[in-house]
Amino acid sequence: MLNRTRVSSTLKRLRRCLGDALFPAKCIGCGQLFHHDAGALETAHTGGLTHAAGWIPGLALHFCPGCRGQWTAVASPLCSRCGLVFKSRQGEDHLCGRCLDRPGAFSRARAAGIYDQSLRMAIHALKFKGWVGLAGPLGGLLLDTFRRYWASGDIDVVAPVPLHRRRFHRRGFNQAHLLVRRWRLPGETVVVRDLLVRTRATAPQTGLDRRQRRTNLENAFSVSRPGQITGKRVLLVDDVLTTGATVNACATALIRDGAGRVDVLTLARAL
Ligand SMILES: [Zn+2]
Ligand SMILES: [Zn+2]
Repeated sequence: MLNRTRVSSTLKRLRRCLGDALFPAKCIGCGQLFHHDAGALETAHTGGLTHAAGWIPGLALHFCPGCRGQWTAVASPLCSRCGLVFKSRQGEDHLCGRCLDRPGAFSRARAAGIYDQSLRMAIHALKFKGWVGLAGPLGGLLLDTFRRYWASGDIDVVAPVPLHRRRFHRRGFNQAHLLVRRWRLPGETVVVRDLLVRTRATAPQTGLDRRQRRTNLENAFSVSRPGQITGKRVLLVDDVLTTGATVNACATALIRDGAGRVDVLTLARAL
């Protein structure tokens, strides 16, 4: 007698393959049409990460096989505080010149990959084209990075970097929140969506130098419920870390209002 579960999964696979043959996907990276390979279709629904295969299953549906390998995971040697990836690929992690000169309000920042190539394209598609379906696999990559650098119990509160109300309404979502929305965290760690509020609309940071970025963001953030963070270890989450001015302004507000320590996690790190 035929196993019903096996028949139904074979039918499902057949339907997916037929659909794929008729409607190829468009690659987010290079714009070419491509057919999903069986591996991408199979693993796309498992929810797990397969870094060994070079890419994240859910994202494999949106990138052709050629573009999937086009991203660089962050690896040592890097700045032990801000996570800056050193050009020289020799030696141990150590503090970069900027952190030695002027350590900011956060204690440690880490990222999954370099802000370049396919990872940059995936973040752009999520943020500017509204492909919110990418938030699942990208959030999985972020969670995987979180587990790599922080032990269970190291963080009390996970807080997405907020958008100003006006930008939020224009975009319809806060990408930083979408990335952590589905996280299941052990113990007491909680995700607090609106811990930080952007009280002032600021000019876009693009095109500003480091100092202008800092001034642009002064007093732009406030903590919605300061009592909730007294002595707590907070993890700030965002999509990209460029100069660190945004997360530093958030961390300053959190520390001022009583947080014990602030760390930072982003999907990508600009070089
Ligand atoms: Zn491609
Ligand atoms: Zn540094």
